Amino acid sequence: AKYLGGDGYQFYSDNLQTHGIERLQLENQLRKALDDAQLVVYYQPKQDLPGGALRSAEALVRWQHPQHGLLAPAAFIELAEETGMIVRLGEQVLQQACAQASQWYQNGQPMQIAVNLSVQQLRQRGFAEQVAAVLLATELPAHYLQLELTESMLLEQLDVVEQNIAALRALGVSLAIDDFGTGYSSLAYLKRFPIDTLKIDRTFIAGLQQGAQDAAIVRAIIVMGHSLGLQVVAEGVEDEAQRQLLRDYQCDQLQGYLIGRPMPANELTPHLARELPI
Ligand code: C2E
Ligand code: CA
Ligand code: CA
Ligand code: CA
Repeated sequence: AKYLGGDGYQFYSDNLQTHGIERLQLENQLRKALDDAQLVVYYQPKQDLPGGALRSAEALVRWQHPQHGLLAPAAFIELAEETGMIVRLGEQVLQQACAQASQWYQNGQPMQIAVNLSVQQLRQRGFAEQVAAVLLATELPAHYLQLELTESMLLEQLDVVEQNIAALRALGVSLAIDDFGTGYSSLAYLKRFPIDTLKIDRTFIAGLQQGAQDAAIVRAIIVMGHSLGLQVVAEGVEDEAQRQLLRDYQCDQLQGYLIGRPMPANELTPHLARELPI
């Protein structure tokens, strides 16, 4: 039931819901993982266009499980969401990612780090203040942190979510919409929320060469994003033909296996240019 994933981790294809005992065991183990700092953060670089520089990366959580080895989010994120542990998990990832970004910044290799959020974090009163405290403690300028939200989070209609989002933007944190194009068709939230970046879902990138449809959608998202003053990132870029098309379409940043897989910070560092902090 377990196999080696593309990023060198194993994960379970078993449906955890149907195995009550395994699920309970995994839940207890995840609680212990949070107490014992078994979560690690991998970084997947993004490439700037047209220049090609690596100035940003996405933080992706992994679980260094004492028996099962390195586990992918697919093995535990859903469980973390269901049990509420996602809030502590998210805090730990944010803390680690900001500490790492601060280290790169101080080394003259500044990187903006994108961190995925759960809606449960955004529903916490005082979440934005917590983020401010982490930035202060790690001495990271706010614009080196990007937070990734999904379209469904912006449709929550909760005052606390809206307040957190406004307060985060006021701090100077960058806000991106992840998996853009897969959620709801209403684009009204682009006006209502202070978003500065769209990440085109990788399913559209995968279809770029297959037919006219996905290419038209990708081009339209880029044009619309730019006319709203947003940066546009393509995720799941796997081959050179996709890179060329996205360059022609004037996409701002590329992320995907072609640029680099998610990896530990110390493996990414040698690939980063040295420059004066901006
Ligand atoms: P996501 O935010 O859409 O992250 C991108 C996923 O696509 C990552 O999977 C990444 O390894 C994978 N990927 C990157 N480039 C390529 C490519 O060229 N081709 C293909 N086929 N895949 C690519 P990963 O690391 O397994 O993460 C899965 C999901 O888990 C993430 O999807 C995100 O929704 C969630 N996740 C990861 N870390 C966190 C976290 O710290 N907090 C929360 N709340 N969710 C997280
Ligand atoms: Ca993401
Ligand atoms: Ca995504
Ligand atoms: Ca996704």
